[in-house]
Amino acid sequence: MNLKKFIREIPDYPTKGISFKDITTLLKDKNAFQVVVDEISNYFKEKQITKVVSLESRGFIVGGAVAYCLHAGFVPARKKGKLPVETIHESYELEYGTDTIEMHLDALNEDDVVLIHDDLLATGGTALAALKLVRQMNVKQIYFSFICDLKFIENGNKEILSNYEMHSLVEY
Ligand code: 5GP
Repeated sequence: MNLKKFIREIPDYPTKGISFKDITTLLKDKNAFQVVVDEISNYFKEKQITKVVSLESRGFIVGGAVAYCLHAGFVPARKKGKLPVETIHESYELEYGTDTIEMHLDALNEDDVVLIHDDLLATGGTALAALKLVRQMNVKQIYFSFICDLKFIENGNKEILSNYEMHSLVEY
């Protein structure tokens, strides 16, 4: 299935010059949604993933379904101030300013094999922040999954991420 054709491109959103990849048009198609979840789950099925870590909020949608298919647990990485008990946090650069994500300190342990999933990889800032959090919990192994990879963006974040096995379904 050509998944790219289900993703709507919005010019100049959220700011001028950005072509936003809107995945809601993919998610609302029952066949495309199923293909996305099945393809990611099949790719990782032999990796003994114990937990899927997903990023708020678009990452949760497919991340939760993939966790179910892999019979893995689900761990949310959330925006600052949303998680109720002790957290670790990591800040990362946005185009304008910074953002912070948090995870519960007890979310992962040294027996975990972790799949970090988000809807889209752009500059890699978000994924790198998630990686730094997950690494603090001394897990066994870390993999990455994205629906979309904006390959035309190349930078130091992506060089670091390239040390980890990564799967994506749609490239730009
Ligand atoms: P990065 O940190 O890699 O620059 O940006 C990735 C994060 O921003 C992801 O969490 C993703 O949800 C969001 N994001 C950035 N650009 C887009 C886009 O064009 N489409 C979608 N769906 N999300 C985006």
